[in-house]
Amino acid sequence: MVKVSDGQCGLCTHFGEAEKAPQLVEILSTRQASEELVSDCGHPKLANLHLRVTPVSGCDGFVLAA
Ligand code: SF4
Repeated sequence: MVKVSDGQCGLCTHFGEAEKAPQLVEILSTRQASEELVSDCGHPKLANLHLRVTPVSGCDGFVLAA
């Protein structure tokens, strides 16, 4: 497991946005994620690129998930 900090994809509302996978809720509560997890970024400016990111990736489009 890796630690996920503010500003990183694992805590972003756009991380795995289309999938709404249960593990995303777990990342928010534990602030930890599997090193092997990769998911789509759903940011409107990036969605057409089908960008795949890890929980510890990041960009300036970060929005803290509710
Ligand atoms: S790449 Fe940016 S917008 Fe996409 S999930 Fe990561 S922080 Fe959020």
